[in-house]
Amino acid sequence: MSQVFNFSAGPAMIYPEVLAQAQAELTNWLGQGVSVMEVSHRGKLFMELIKQAEADIRELYRIPDNYRVLFLQGGARGQFAAIPMNLIGKKGKALYLNSGHWSATAAKEARNFAEIDEINIVHNDNGISRIGSLDFSDIAENYDYVHYCPNETISGVEINEIPNVGNGVLVADMSSNVLSRHIDISKFGVIYAGAQKNLGPAGILLLIIRDDLIGHARQATPSIWNYAVQRDADSMINTPPTFAWYLCSLVFKHILSIGGLDVIAQRNAVKAQTLYDYIDSSKLYRNNVAKENRSIMNVTFVTGDPELDAQFVAEATAAGLQALKGHKVLGGMRASIYNAMPLAGVEALIEFMKAFEAKHAK
Ligand SMILES: *Cc1c(COP(=O)(O)O)cnc(C)c1O
Repeated sequence: MSQVFNFSAGPAMIYPEVLAQAQAELTNWLGQGVSVMEVSHRGKLFMELIKQAEADIRELYRIPDNYRVLFLQGGARGQFAAIPMNLIGKKGKALYLNSGHWSATAAKEARNFAEIDEINIVHNDNGISRIGSLDFSDIAENYDYVHYCPNETISGVEINEIPNVGNGVLVADMSSNVLSRHIDISKFGVIYAGAQKNLGPAGILLLIIRDDLIGHARQATPSIWNYAVQRDADSMINTPPTFAWYLCSLVFKHILSIGGLDVIAQRNAVKAQTLYDYIDSSKLYRNNVAKENRSIMNVTFVTGDPELDAQFVAEATAAGLQALKGHKVLGGMRASIYNAMPLAGVEALIEFMKAFEAKHAK
């Protein structure tokens, strides 16, 4: 088979080096003669694995000591409910910043559990999406927390500035841009991210939470989503997705081995800039996001003709450039270029786009 590049938005590509290592030790993990999937999650070797995985992500992300790291199930969707169940307290309400599909979906779910106020922060400027002011310091403390989504995976809108919530609590759904660059964790109360974009396979979720926010869950919170219960049980109140956890641990090690988030951030910036520069220079393709809010992870573009978009996707797929179809709510194309996508993948995409443009530009 000729070289394939997988631009899937999620589950997304995983580093080939990680898959090769998993393959090599699949039937014989650490000389045990069995796979990592077939041993007790409470056994010595697996407990060592999760301890090391936590140490590695703490090092990678410079997570301060007053934050806990949990690995949970139920994906980001589970957290859309778990966040209000755990964090709604004295103030009885939360503020949701709406920037697109995922932040809106989070707010909708949260309404099942609490009074929610919503503020739209994405504006349409002659067809261009732009994020407005993010200073909520005057109102944030009226709420138990302020929730936002720093990278809207579907529209390709990224919010680089951290919203100002004064002494309020900021909660972020980082499912599609976690570990894509350094961030100041201390600005956040909670960060959560489903694994299947930048961390590993589907089935596990990373939650980083400030100590003092744990322990206030409402009575009716299921134990598996009660942060205090999970903290006290090493994120193992029930059998965890051990294989997914193991693969995440290999991804963390791999990122450390190539130089950590400084290297990752630099590579991501080059990949995204290269692709956006080409799109901006082309006569056929257009991206509809303001430059300062263009996602470095999910690059959306259209030709302006839905039939031509469909033809683009079909021909790209045949050429080994997979999963470029935009999300069904938006149409067009989307190239997801998460951490594991090499620059060579972006270059191959641009070569294809140029050839397609040469045939179809008017
Ligand atoms: C993919 C994605 C989700 C959904 O994640 P699940 O793990 O499938 O629940 C939520 N938020 C964002 C920003 C995403 O990219």
